[in-house]
Amino acid sequence: MTASGPPSGQAALSAASVNASPDGHGAPTSAPSGPSPAVMPTYGRQDLVFERGEGAWLVTADGDRYLDLASGVAVNALGHAHPHLVAALTAQAGRLWHTSNLYRVEGQERVAERLVDMTFADRVFFCNSGAEACEGAIKTARRYHFVNGQPERWRIVTFEGAFHGRTIATLAAGGNPKYLEGFGPEAAGFDHVPFGDHEALERAIGPETAAIMIEPVQGEGGVRTVPDQCLKGLRDLCDEKGLLLILDEVQSGMGRTGRLFAHEWAGISPDIMAVAKGIGGGFPVGAFLATEEAAKGMTAGTHGSTFGGNPLAMAVADAVLDVVGESDFLTDVQTKALRFKQALEALKDRFPNAIAEVRGRGLLMGLKLQPALQPPAVVKAAIGEKLLLVGASDNVVRLLPPLNITDAEIAEAVERVGRALEGLEGQGR
Ligand SMILES: *Cc1c(COP(=O)(O)O)cnc(C)c1O
Repeated sequence: MTASGPPSGQAALSAASVNASPDGHGAPTSAPSGPSPAVMPTYGRQDLVFERGEGAWLVTADGDRYLDLASGVAVNALGHAHPHLVAALTAQAGRLWHTSNLYRVEGQERVAERLVDMTFADRVFFCNSGAEACEGAIKTARRYHFVNGQPERWRIVTFEGAFHGRTIATLAAGGNPKYLEGFGPEAAGFDHVPFGDHEALERAIGPETAAIMIEPVQGEGGVRTVPDQCLKGLRDLCDEKGLLLILDEVQSGMGRTGRLFAHEWAGISPDIMAVAKGIGGGFPVGAFLATEEAAKGMTAGTHGSTFGGNPLAMAVADAVLDVVGESDFLTDVQTKALRFKQALEALKDRFPNAIAEVRGRGLLMGLKLQPALQPPAVVKAAIGEKLLLVGASDNVVRLLPPLNITDAEIAEAVERVGRALEGLEGQGR
C-alpha cells in the first residue's frame, strides 16, 4: 500500500467514506450504472447488482426479485439470510473474530469433531476455499507416502473435465488448457485420464503414483456423475495399488446430492476429502478431511493458514451443520430433487429441440443442451424471466437451488425455465 492509498483507521469507519467514490469526491447512493474498471475484469459477469437476499430469492435495489438457482455457485446451501446462520454469525461477531492458529480455537475443535462424527474422517484441517482444500488434500497425499519412506510417490491421477480450483497446483490438477494458458509451466505431478476410460486409468498408474483424485459429480465439468460402480472400482484399485483416494466434494458435498457427501451413495469412503462451498453457507470456509492413517504425515509445522478455521467461519459452519444435520433434512433434499427432476424431464419432452438430457444427482442438476443452443443464451433468457442459473462445460446449464427450496419455488422455477426456453424458440434462438 502506497501513501496515496485510502485513509486507514477511524476515517475508514465513517459512513461517508464507506460510500465514497474511488476519487474521494461524491458519495453515490445507488449502484453505479456500469461495472467499475477498478475491479480486475477476470469474470464474465451479468450486469446485475443485488441488495439483499431472502431464502431462495435475491432482490435488487429496485425491488426486482430473482429466483436464485445459482446459490452463489452451490454455496448458499440454506438460501440467503437464514435466521439460524445470521444469529450465529452476529453473536460471534460481538465476541471474537480472529485469534490465528497460534492458539486453540474452540469453534474449530467443535466443528472438526462434528465432521469426524458425521463422516469417514478422523482429522480435519480448515482453510478458506475449495482450491485451498484441494491443495491441502494433495499435500496430505504426497506427505503420506513421504513419511512412509516412499517419497518417489508424489504423482496424482486426475480426470479430464475436472475442476479443482484456480491456484497453480489445482489448475494443473484440473488440466484445462484454457485456464492454464499464460501462467508459466504447468505444475508437475498430475496425470490426466479421460473421464470413464478404465484402461487409460490403469496405464496412468505407476510406481510414482500417490493418489487418484476425483469429483464424485463433476460440477463445472458439466454435472457428470461418476457411476457408483466406478467409484467402488476406484476404491478397490487404490487399495490394490497402495494409493490414496482423494474425493473433491467441494461442490457435491454438504447435502447437495441428498446425502451428506456424494460418495455415500456408492457405499465407499475416501482417504482424503476436500470440502468448501456449502459448508460455510456463504461465509468463506474450506476444509480437508482425512483418515488418521492418510493424515499421518501432517504433523506440526507441515501446513498452515492464517485465516483457516477462524471463529467467525466456525460459528457459521457449526450453524450450517445444525441445519443440515437435522433428522429429516437430507431425505427432504432427496424428495425435492425427485420432484424437480421429474418436472425437468417433462420440460425436456416439451422442448426436445432445446434440452438433450436432464443430468445430476440430488439438487446438483444440469440440463445438457442440444448442440444448436449454448448455455450463455439460456442463462440470459432465464435472467429475462428473473431466474438465476449457472453455465457449465459440456454444453450444460446448472440448476443449484438452495437445499431448503420449497415445493412452490420448485414449481415456479420450472415455470420460468419453460418460459425462457419458449422465448428462445420464439426467436428461433
Ligand atoms: C468450486 C470448486 C473448487 C474451487 O473452489 P474455490 O472456493 O473457488 O477455490 C474446487 N473443486 C470443485 C469441485 C469446485 O466445484
